[in-house]
Amino acid sequence: MQSTMADGDLTIGRLLRYGGTVQGRGTVRTWTGADTRSETYAEVATRAGRLASALRSLGIDGDQRVATFMWNNNEHLEAYLGIPAMGAVLHTLNIRLAPEQLSYVVNHAQDSVIIVDATVLPLLEPVLPTMDSVRHVVVVGGDPATLEAPAGVTVHGYDELLDAHEPQTDWPALDERSAAALCYTSGTTGDPKGVAYSHRSIWLHSMQVCAAQTMALTARDTVLAVVPMFHAMSWGLPYAAMMSGASLVMPDRYLQPEPLAAIMQAERPTFAAAVPTIWQGLNAQLEQHPQDISHLREVIVGGSACPPSLMRAFEERYDVPVIQAWGMTETSPLGSVARVPSWAEGDEAWALRTGQGQFPASVEARIVDDAGSVLPWDDEAVGELEVTGPWIADSYYSPDGQSDALQANFDDGWLRTGDVGRITPDGFLTLTDRAKDVIKSGGEWISSVELENILMGHPDVVEAAAIAIPDEKWQERPLMTVVLKDGSSTTTEQLRDYLAPHLAKWQLPDSWAYIDEVPKTSVGKFDKKRLRARFQEGDLT
Ligand code: ADP
Repeated sequence: MQSTMADGDLTIGRLLRYGGTVQGRGTVRTWTGADTRSETYAEVATRAGRLASALRSLGIDGDQRVATFMWNNNEHLEAYLGIPAMGAVLHTLNIRLAPEQLSYVVNHAQDSVIIVDATVLPLLEPVLPTMDSVRHVVVVGGDPATLEAPAGVTVHGYDELLDAHEPQTDWPALDERSAAALCYTSGTTGDPKGVAYSHRSIWLHSMQVCAAQTMALTARDTVLAVVPMFHAMSWGLPYAAMMSGASLVMPDRYLQPEPLAAIMQAERPTFAAAVPTIWQGLNAQLEQHPQDISHLREVIVGGSACPPSLMRAFEERYDVPVIQAWGMTETSPLGSVARVPSWAEGDEAWALRTGQGQFPASVEARIVDDAGSVLPWDDEAVGELEVTGPWIADSYYSPDGQSDALQANFDDGWLRTGDVGRITPDGFLTLTDRAKDVIKSGGEWISSVELENILMGHPDVVEAAAIAIPDEKWQERPLMTVVLKDGSSTTTEQLRDYLAPHLAKWQLPDSWAYIDEVPKTSVGKFDKKRLRARFQEGDLT
């Protein structure tokens, strides 16, 4: 039997129309270093329409890729909406990619246009001649004449281009399953891989982000989106804000603890999202320069495991709950959220909060062992997490068909996450490691995340990262790298004693190294690849 329901394609054009009218009084505000510049969602919709008309005049008439090389700001939100709404594909370029990788992803996606913040032009200019498909560069917030473009590339000023075009308002009917946005994984192994989100996957994902069980966004919220729009779509916050009417506060390039504290003081967000290293920095900043942050109803942390000590610090000092979420570029990125149901209390509730959380209805999950057998959800069996669902990739973008290397991350429609963990009977996930970070000692696994989480609770430890080092007898043993607070005289023995009550004796690291800083990836996560490279060279100082 056929249903009697209208179809109604779930497209970004529809979201843009809705956000620009029903939620038209919502605002996006971008930090300028001293205060914010503001725009209503009605204005965002108009300017997104102007951008679409302008891009048409530059020859974008189908699903060509239009890239952004931008911080989180008003113009980036306009691009997020206008580009997919007109039927083109938004490609968010990671500002912190190495030059070769930047060139690789632009050529792989065959981007026709790049919209770039003037402040990062110096990063783009040297590699622009290697980007064969690019015909136009649109410069935001600066003098386009400063860019020396190669032959065949025309440079425009963003505002001038928009001012010269009437806003498009009649968005084309598009197939909701067609690509709306393209995002490459940061490529810690091999070349970056492209994930092409559909209009439909973005729409469904945005509804989940808004849901009470997830981020509970409403038109009463002001969201500080610290997580970059060039990384996993800023966790879906820009689209979810247009959908819920929540206002957005964008930090632009001011991502250090001091300006973030200033932004919070000026804009009083009710909600904020960032990776643990950002919260760690902010926590240290607030310790030195106390300020009221009671305007935050909660903060979301994800992208890497959140040390429980950090969660406690925010809750005990500021009464701000820290909610952990797990996801990846391939999962749009929302995969699970750690909210505690009414049946869990005390230690059980805390254990659920400090894990990676529960899967929403649209995310199906399983864990498998090395032989590919599916393991039970008993909170004990540990295996690789695989997920599937309507906003989860089941292939990578490839203009010339799927190679074996690209297919290796998928298992019959399931995404192999490369994350290792266990699941409770109620679908709560605890990740113990990334597959490549697990420390395999004498046939047993030691969780690097567990070592780090415990040690980062020590008052003198600023950062701690555990990696495997080769061992003749045990195959691998943990090496604990530690950043101590300035002036601390804490000894290795004291740190070992601090770990000891929480771990079996054989899990305790016997090698320790004291470093100035744990190297970070382009998105602020611990870069264990670089750490391993450093210590494999035998530098144990
Ligand atoms: P990258 O590989 O560049 O880090 P992503 O940003 O897509 O790419 O990162 C996804 C990965 O980040 C996940 O596979 C997982 O290992 C890690 N991750 C994300 N959220 C969490 C979390 N809450 N706890 C532990 N690890 C997390």
